[in-house]
Amino acid sequence: MGLDAVIFCNCVEAKKLKVPHPFPSLLYALKNGRPAIRSVDSAKIAKHVAWTELPPCKHEDMMVDGCSLGAAGGVEVIYKVLSSARKPPKTKFPILLNKVFYSGTHCMDFLTLTQIRKLDVEMKQLRKLKLTDLGFATSDVKWVTEIFGNLTRLVKVAQKVGKPIAF
Ligand SMILES: [Zn+2]
Repeated sequence: MGLDAVIFCNCVEAKKLKVPHPFPSLLYALKNGRPAIRSVDSAKIAKHVAWTELPPCKHEDMMVDGCSLGAAGGVEVIYKVLSSARKPPKTKFPILLNKVFYSGTHCMDFLTLTQIRKLDVEMKQLRKLKLTDLGFATSDVKWVTEIFGNLTRLVKVAQKVGKPIAF
């Protein structure tokens, strides 16, 4: 178990579908960005699922990006360090702490575009700091840098396609 993040593509919104939806008037995007069908009819739901699995656009699983943000234990390390970061004084990471790294196994939640803009600011702050100054052990710097790099990329991609980051 670990923390995974994905960004669904915007092919529905941008009308870039190669295969039309079987029930276009019932198609919508969930708050986390995933295309869904507004129906309780199991036959229609099955057709919708089959459509998403085609996939009906150029993106595998209708996702533009996705990555692991660490194993549960790693997420715990990041949370502990960021929440107790003393150097430099008063560095706070509310989105990173309360919305991303608060648990190593949260899923089904997401970051809105407003939260992603705030996260972008936090990531920029973070990039100016030395991880060891924040309190990360030298032996953790490599994997933590990689995870922060992945998250920075997700923030850029999400803003480009105008979609949430889903966990
Ligand atoms: Zn797509």
